[in-house]
Amino acid sequence: MTTIFIKRSVLLVLVAAFTAIAVVATSCGIAAATTMRGQPKVVVVDAGHGGMDGGVVGSSGVKESDLNLLIAKELQRQLENGGIKVVMTRTGEGAIGATKKQDMQNRKKIIVEAQPDVVVSVHINKFSSTKRRGVQVFYDDTGIGKYFAEHLQNTVNQALNSKYTSRSDYVAIKGDLFITKCYSCPSVIVECGFLSNAEDEKLLLTAAYRQEVAEVIAGACLDILGA
Ligand SMILES: [Zn+2]
Repeated sequence: MTTIFIKRSVLLVLVAAFTAIAVVATSCGIAAATTMRGQPKVVVVDAGHGGMDGGVVGSSGVKESDLNLLIAKELQRQLENGGIKVVMTRTGEGAIGATKKQDMQNRKKIIVEAQPDVVVSVHINKFSSTKRRGVQVFYDDTGIGKYFAEHLQNTVNQALNSKYTSRSDYVAIKGDLFITKCYSCPSVIVECGFLSNAEDEKLLLTAAYRQEVAEVIAGACLDILGA
């Protein structure tokens, strides 16, 4: 009786082990970007600014809000190709509220309703020194987005900053940032370059670079989401 009991236990352990392996294998395959319940993982992509709030402006006259939207839409396409459900905070050039405050509250509402696994807010930077270049990542000061932000920063350092700029040593920066605090999931702001730098502006004006930035961000999201 003891022998039979042991054999049954071993069998049960083996069945459990094979089941676990099958689950892991599935999570690395086609059904990768899903939750345990089989729901697709959700990413909110937030194109910063819009409408009356154009954000920073380059020397060519290009507005940050327009470049943000182009990168955000490309990021949406890349993520959807990876099996992710994407919720956009805006898809048009306009703001999503009559005032800046309403616009931000509406973005928060969209984020909360989406119940996302990750939030990525797309922006472009400006700095007093025109020499400053490259992609920088920011996360909430509660720290929930730290791991994601650090992974994303390391990824863009390797794939973009070291390729196009002399700055491949940026570290993700913690800050008191409204959009990263809307929902209890890793939330980051990606500043995709500096419109105060002529070379960054030139790159950001090309569809090829915007696509490359989106690809790199999407890749880091898929890493984090286990896709
Ligand atoms: Zn901005």
